[in-house]
Order: sequence, then structure tokens, then C-alpha cells
Amino acid sequence: MRTAVVGAGVVGLSTAYALLRHGSEATVFETGAPMAARSAGSSRIFRLAHGDSGLVAYAAAAAGLWADWTHRAGNRLVGQQTTVLTGPAAPDWATAMADAGVDHTLVDEVDPALGLPVSTLPGPALIDPAGGVIDAPATGRFLRAAIGNRVRQEHIYRIEPHDDWVTVYGSGGVHEVDRVVVAAGRGSLELASQVDLYLPTELAHHVRFTFRLKDPDAVPPCWLDGTQSWRSGISSYQHLSAPGLWSIGLNLPPEDEEWERGRDEVIEDSRELVRAYVREALVGVGDEIVDEVYCDSPASLGDGVHVATTGPVTVVWGANLFKHAPAIGQTLANAAVSDTSPQVPRPE
Ligand SMILES: Cc1cc2nc3c(=O)[nH]c(=O)nc-3n(C[C@H](O)[C@H](O)[C@H](O)COP(=O)(O)OP(=O)(O)OC[C@H]3O[C@@H](n4cnc5c(N)ncnc54)[C@H](O)[C@@H]3O)c2cc1C
Repeated sequence: MRTAVVGAGVVGLSTAYALLRHGSEATVFETGAPMAARSAGSSRIFRLAHGDSGLVAYAAAAAGLWADWTHRAGNRLVGQQTTVLTGPAAPDWATAMADAGVDHTLVDEVDPALGLPVSTLPGPALIDPAGGVIDAPATGRFLRAAIGNRVRQEHIYRIEPHDDWVTVYGSGGVHEVDRVVVAAGRGSLELASQVDLYLPTELAHHVRFTFRLKDPDAVPPCWLDGTQSWRSGISSYQHLSAPGLWSIGLNLPPEDEEWERGRDEVIEDSRELVRAYVREALVGVGDEIVDEVYCDSPASLGDGVHVATTGPVTVVWGANLFKHAPAIGQTLANAAVSDTSPQVPRPE
């Protein structure tokens, strides 16, 4: 079984890794540098907490694989900071975690002992003890070392499926393989349409900003803030992206990050907004921006993992895939070697 994986982001690399561990052949084709598009930057948030018990269970499966990767990598890939969700969704997410049988705590008040860098915040809050910060570059290094020279720098511009094999046309030549997994992020839209799979086309601009914590030794939990207590319509995700550094992504109303506004304008407005937020709402964070990560992001997809298969071609997409990546890779590899359709939890 020869599989071509298109895209060397965390999902494509994870899929190739799982295929190779099955003893199956895999080649990853990547236009640019691995881990440099939607998987770029220092860190991501891992959490079991989701609003859907199927996604909680899927994240729990991913947690087991993250632990295995950590063991094999020889260094911790997911930190132990915990993750806290504040806001009105907390009780429903707690129910989803209870239904999935995973550890969690729901509290009515946001206790200062949680260590969030705010002075006051309305409850409730959900605490996910298995949550923590994913070390994104270390994850990339581990996967690339394991995959070795099976990552090729080559742009794939056409895939042509036959009954049980596929011709893959790339900038480096024509390849015949048994299966193709398209994990090309934004590039998946075009490749999927060639096999009559039509992915949501709506994109948004997204920027995450990093600031210094006033206490460089503080270790706050990862934090998803859905209270909208600073401004109506604005929620955020925040975490310790490196010692003493606090990264914040604001989730803006759709019209504020819509594609048509253009990258530069959205970045500029987001920069002003996040600095105002830090000054007005976060007591524990200095307001100087020390780093920025920009990416295009599929709009309105939330936490779901989406997979579609037609014949020997499978396409995977979503907006928040990093934390699930080990499980996605294993799901796609299992399906490829057993010649079945991959099963992922239904989207929220
Ligand atoms: C700032 C930010 C914060 C985020 N926070 C979180 C978080 O806290 N938790 C979480 O779980 N997720 C988070 N996400 C989302 C998560 O990072 C992405 O969902 C995930 O990294 C996507 O990985 P991917 O492999 O699908 O796509 P990508 O990383 O985009 O990889 C796709 C690759 O395919 C290549 N490619 C495209 N077209 C072609 C082609 N035709 N031929 C060859 N190669 C091609 C691209 O160059 C790219 O390298 C965040 C994203 C960003 C940007």
C-alpha cells in the first residue's frame, strides 16, 4: 500500500507517521516548508474540554497518543498547565465531559487561585486537568525525524483517481499511488474539488499576539474565555506560549475578520483591539506585543474534525485540528490500511 499525503502540516505529518508505524509506505508532498502554514508558531492549546462528548472522547484518544509521542520524543510535547473555560458554555461542556467519562470540575465562581491574569471575572468556570500547552515546534521536529526523507518539497497540482489507484501530478513529476490523503489546509479546497468534494470555502483572517506576563515565573492555565465580559461579541483563547510569555487570540465578530477586508487591515485592527483588551482587562500582562502569528482560517468551523472520502482519496479539514492531530493521523492510517472509510466524531 503506497499512500501520498499532500501537506506537511501537523495533520499530514501525523498521518504519514501513523502509516509508517503500520508498516505501510507513505510519501508526504509539501509545497513550502513543513509546519509553516496553519501549524506555524510556538504553541497550541490542548484540551479534552469540548461541547460534544464525541469530540471529548476523540481528544482523550489523542491525549493517549500525545503521551506516546512524548515518550518516543524524549521530551514533553503537552504541558501540564490545565485548561480553564469561563463563560456560559461551561455547564454544557461539563456535561459533555461527564458523558465521555473524563475528569473535570465545574465551579460557580472564578477563584483567583486558578491563576488567570485577570482581577475579577464572572463564573461559571470549567477546569480540564488534562489540558495544557502543546509545544508545536517540538512536535514538528519529532514527526519529521520519525518520517525522515519521506517528506518531499513538491507542489501537487492535480490528483486523478482511478478505480483503486491514483495518479498524482506534482511539480517534481507524476506519481502512481494506491491512496491519497489530502491534508493541505487551505490548499485542500482546490484538490478536493478535483474529485468532486466541495469543502466550505469561506476563509477568515486570524492573528494571535504574544505579550509578557508581569510575573515571569507565573504559570497560568490555558484559558478559553467565553464570558464576553470585556466587550460583547469578543471571546478569546490564551495560554503560556513560553516561560513568561502569554499568547492571546481574540475571536472577533465575523465581519471584523472577514476575508474581503484584507490581511493587513485585519491585522492592524486586531493589534489595536488586543492591546486595548490587555490594558483594560488583564492585570497580569504587559501591553507590548512581542510576537504575532497570522494564518488564514476556515470561518465558522468551530472544533469539528471533518473527513470525506471518495474512492481512494480522503480529504481532512477543520479549524482546530492541532490538538486532535495524533488521533486524526491514526484514524486516517487505520482506514487506509484496512481499506475502510475513516470515522471521526460528528462536527459540533
Ligand atoms: C494562531 C493559531 C492558533 C491556533 N490555536 C489552536 C489551538 O490552540 N488548538 C488547536 O487544536 N488548534 C489551533 N489552531 C488550529 C491548528 O493549528 C490547525 O487546525 C492545524 O495546525 C492545521 O494543520 P493542517 O496540517 O491541517 O494544515 P497546515 O498546517 O496548514 O498544513 C497544510 C500544508 O499543506 C501544504 N500544501 C497546501 N497545498 C499544497 C499542495 N497543493 N501541494 C503540496 N503541499 C500543499 C501547505 O504548504 C501546508 O504546509 C490554531 C491555528 C492558528 C493559526
